[in-house]
Amino acid sequence: MDLKIYNTLSGEKEDFKPLKKGVVGMYQCGPTVYDRAHIGNLRTMVMNDLVRRVFEHQGYKVNQVMNITDVDDKTIKKSQAEKKSLTELTRHYETLFLADIHSLNILTPHHLLRASEHIEKMIEMISIILENDHAYQSKDGIYFSIGLSKNYGALAKLKLDAEVQERIANDEYEKENPRDFALWKFATPEDGDAVWDAPFGKGRPGWHIECSAMATEALGPTIDVHTGGSDLIFPHHTNEIAQSESATGKHFVKYWLHGGFMNVNDAKMSKSKGTGLILSDIEDAGISPLGFRYWLLTSHYRTPVNFTLEAVSGAQNAFIRLVETFVRLGEVTHEHIHAHGEPRDYRAEFKERISDDFDMPGALALTWEMIKDHSLEADKKIKLLLDFDTVFGLGLKAVADMKASGDAGTLIPAEIIALADAREDARKAHEWDKADAFRAQIEEMGYEVKDTDKGPEIKVLR
Ligand code: AMP
Ligand code: ZN
Repeated sequence: MDLKIYNTLSGEKEDFKPLKKGVVGMYQCGPTVYDRAHIGNLRTMVMNDLVRRVFEHQGYKVNQVMNITDVDDKTIKKSQAEKKSLTELTRHYETLFLADIHSLNILTPHHLLRASEHIEKMIEMISIILENDHAYQSKDGIYFSIGLSKNYGALAKLKLDAEVQERIANDEYEKENPRDFALWKFATPEDGDAVWDAPFGKGRPGWHIECSAMATEALGPTIDVHTGGSDLIFPHHTNEIAQSESATGKHFVKYWLHGGFMNVNDAKMSKSKGTGLILSDIEDAGISPLGFRYWLLTSHYRTPVNFTLEAVSGAQNAFIRLVETFVRLGEVTHEHIHAHGEPRDYRAEFKERISDDFDMPGALALTWEMIKDHSLEADKKIKLLLDFDTVFGLGLKAVADMKASGDAGTLIPAEIIALADAREDARKAHEWDKADAFRAQIEEMGYEVKDTDKGPEIKVLR
């Protein structure tokens, strides 16, 4: 069955056709690491993870690339304010971000690219755009000239005609058009250690060119899928298209996917104003990361959502019921099967739901129908649940593994097992800081991980 994807560029659901048979190249805008990620940021990361998992469930080999924005106005400003080097500040928040995504059972993207480690590619791209005369030098940097760009604003359906005529006299920036944007910002004393040499002058990249350079470097000039939150459609993704297509002469992205925004109690969250809830805030309020993930699955990824404790607690109860049901299915010894009519092909129905633009609420509703189907044996339900959960990512396999190894006397929550797994991965990679951050998070949640001859063991602390 063909996967149908709503493409922001066409404004329609389209059949997915990969550039190369059986393979999907996927780029997602990652976090700006100057502070903790809020739960809205994390919603978008869960969406990216679900998209990857659906492609994998369909048999594709996915190459998932995410950037880490560790050089931009916000990271520089905060590192200066805290008198830290840019690396010291951003690595700290990067580690915490990775811990957050692990506790949400988000699969780590195959490539994590730090902007600060790809400056050369950005300089190369800017040089080509300058050669193509799609950029000009101003007093404080190199600017992209949108007037010369074909179809500028198509993604955001911008009506630019009137605006392109409009000129504002702005002495400070000397832009030729108000919507021209910086590819490169010349060094200022406030930039601290965030300064690189370039043929067009010392400075640092603008935010948009970072993603164009990293996406094309990792995945080539044309990529299958690019994702992000809906706030990025304009200007970020609009500008990514303009720059990339100017530099490569090729169509940049086949399918653009944008996730809906999350508000909290009907108010907008802002990382820079410090009004965002972070994962540990909601944990303090009694919501587990996987309870939160379950709640996210109950809305379509494009629908804006409003976080209220009441709604998420309700979803968390359903999640707990799902895990309990799964555990009890494994303990069934006598079954009363009431076969009637043709048995339903739940696997095919599940595939149909997830193929319809990643319809998770539909897939979740189907899961509950399957659980309540009296004509289906418990072992078949278990198999189906494990299969569906490769997409949902609610940790059912970890629960099954714990039961199989006889450690389920006290049932360890799936997210603790996921965190312990992540810590083990970090240890194997000798990433001790990361491993310690995971251990601390496990302890904060009331569990302890001990390394034994037989591998790590998890115990309840309190
Ligand atoms: P940032 O760390 O601000 O660069 O954002 C990382 C990702 O989170 C981007 O894809 C944004 O589109 C997304 N994002 C930011 N705020 C929200 C929100 N309130 N709800 C959903 N996604 C968001
Ligand atoms: Zn980006």
